[in-house]
Amino acid sequence: MSGIYIHIPFCRQKCYYCDFYKTVNTSLTDKFLSALKKEVQQRKNYLGNEPIETIYFGGGTPSVLKENELQDILSFLNQEFKVLPNVEITFEANPDDLSESYLKGIYNAGVNRLSIGIQSFQDEYLKKMNRRHNAKQAVESIENAVKIGIKNISADLIYGLPNLTDNDWKASLNQVFQLPVQHLSAYHLTYHEGTAFYTWLKKGTLKELKEADSISQFNLLVEATKKNGFQQYEISNFAKEEMYSKHNTSYWMGKKYLGLGPSAHSFNGDSRRWNVSHVESYIKALDKNQSYFEEEILGANEKYNEYILTRIRTIWGVSINYIQSNFGEEKATHFLKNIEKYKGTELLIHKNDIFTLSRKGLFISDEIMADLMII
Ligand code: SF4
Repeated sequence: MSGIYIHIPFCRQKCYYCDFYKTVNTSLTDKFLSALKKEVQQRKNYLGNEPIETIYFGGGTPSVLKENELQDILSFLNQEFKVLPNVEITFEANPDDLSESYLKGIYNAGVNRLSIGIQSFQDEYLKKMNRRHNAKQAVESIENAVKIGIKNISADLIYGLPNLTDNDWKASLNQVFQLPVQHLSAYHLTYHEGTAFYTWLKKGTLKELKEADSISQFNLLVEATKKNGFQQYEISNFAKEEMYSKHNTSYWMGKKYLGLGPSAHSFNGDSRRWNVSHVESYIKALDKNQSYFEEEILGANEKYNEYILTRIRTIWGVSINYIQSNFGEEKATHFLKNIEKYKGTELLIHKNDIFTLSRKGLFISDEIMADLMII
């Protein structure tokens, strides 16, 4: 079984920290939607006719789409693919777009899971990030979603922001747990090149949070989620009663997915593809039947690296038996040799044939991952 990811490349305004591909030129929406349909038709065999169990609308801001535009995309996907009746359809949205009537429209179109970009419950930090909404709208968006019958709601929060105090972070966490959300994605701020935050950091007009504060905020997050019955199933993802994101879990399990739209990635087990990160070029290429993606065929090392990269930060961890049977003895020896220095430390948990990272290990997971991969 497989998944479909659709990148909606439009935002009404740009947040200062964000490096996802997007444009504020929403006048291209009609042309983009026509190009998207062409891409669907061209690539409908990419997943080898496998049934679709998840559809994920990400961006950009999918909630810039009108209800009928979303309905149209979903009808088209149903026509072109074998979409399972219990498909998980996730829709990323900004709180200020989620009026009751808009929510009814997208719910009737088939959306059954919302991922709401809240980021903070404090107006001071929302303004600093150039978010469009305020804290009141964030709370209302969740209440509206529940009112119209959506039962699977995820909230996104960011910590490690410049000048974010532990108390302010605790306040956002306390607020989210008072609301009927079943899933939380919480990310530490990253300074990506090309973003406003990155430019200000380099100029010295913005100061990065101290590492000790970042660790403290990560610990507050892990403790608060645990106390409120959320399981940390991946470094940044927490779910109540195993209401994991099926789409993201499939990605970590190495399942195939088709990525549609500018900048979207695809994976079919043997290769990776990524579409051009430019909406005008994407539209033009599809219009003129030209190429709009790059492709990398995965060799034995890349497949092994892929497995380490996607699994090490999850609760399912890395299985040495899996490495042996899927990538061979040589890769298994490499893994065992390089994991040795972490054995018996506070960073690693080793049970039977499975290796997972402890809370301390997760915090330095980039370093551990680099040690285990074959460069
Ligand atoms: S965070 Fe979301 S809303 Fe903000 S610029 Fe990025 S994609 Fe757009």
